[in-house]
Amino acid sequence: MKVELINHTPDPDRAAAHAALNCYREKIPDKEEMDNGLILDILNQIKDSGHHSVIEHASFTFAVHGVSRALTHQLVRHRLASYSQQSQRYVDIDDFQPVIPESILDDEHASEIFNDLMEKIQKIYNELKDSDIHKEDARYVLPNATKTNIIITMNARELWHFFSLRCCRRAQWEIRDMADRMLELCKDVSPIIFENAGAPCLRGPCPEIPEFSCGKPMRND
Ligand SMILES: Cc1cc2nc3c(=O)[nH]c(=O)nc-3n(C[C@H](O)[C@H](O)[C@H](O)COP(=O)(O)OP(=O)(O)OC[C@H]3O[C@@H](n4cnc5c(N)ncnc54)[C@H](O)[C@@H]3O)c2cc1C
Repeated sequence: MKVELINHTPDPDRAAAHAALNCYREKIPDKEEMDNGLILDILNQIKDSGHHSVIEHASFTFAVHGVSRALTHQLVRHRLASYSQQSQRYVDIDDFQPVIPESILDDEHASEIFNDLMEKIQKIYNELKDSDIHKEDARYVLPNATKTNIIITMNARELWHFFSLRCCRRAQWEIRDMADRMLELCKDVSPIIFENAGAPCLRGPCPEIPEFSCGKPMRND
């Protein structure tokens, strides 16, 4: 997979702190006059007080290449976001190059039966199209492993929530890998907002009930 941050609110920390400061001033303050100490203080207060709506003013757009349709199905459950995904109605899936989980790659028999099925699926997809079945109907045979590309836009508040759920060890390896990469990219451009973002066990006790907790808090790593 490849994950790129292709667009974001300029200086996201400043933009969010500016929105917060505006709540307490008679006139909208000059954004550029805020020094780094003030930005840090305001954003720390915001995090402590729970007035998280101000970080919604910072928005981030990612291009994610070569992930599975299984991942994007999990991803789009996050509703406070915008998505544009490669269409299987308009794009020919002539060579769908499956995403193969490591558990399958590491097992000779599992790899053999997996690859065998993928080849059959590709063949049947091509045969359906050769029989004048439209792409949009031929695609019904394609598996969750099919590679896809997606553009995602989320604001910082939704990203915080997304990282809490998807950087957690309970999230599946593929979406967790993508979320970890997205978080690193966010930290590069917005180090204050995203300072403590990630799995909740980095910040305190695991919120899961004991049966669902992985039992290995990341703050001990
Ligand atoms: C480890 C893991 C396992 C999972 N397993 C399953 C599973 O087995 N089956 C399954 O179906 N799903 C599963 N999910 C998906 C999960 O149930 C959520 O759909 C997904 O994580 C999106 O989270 P969300 O609804 O909190 O957030 P988002 O859609 O990202 O929304 C963010 C927040 O906005 C608020 N919000 C958004 N929409 C509404 C609304 N309509 N009404 C009120 N408040 C709203 C909520 O506070 C919400 O937390 C799993 C997720 C994880 C991380």
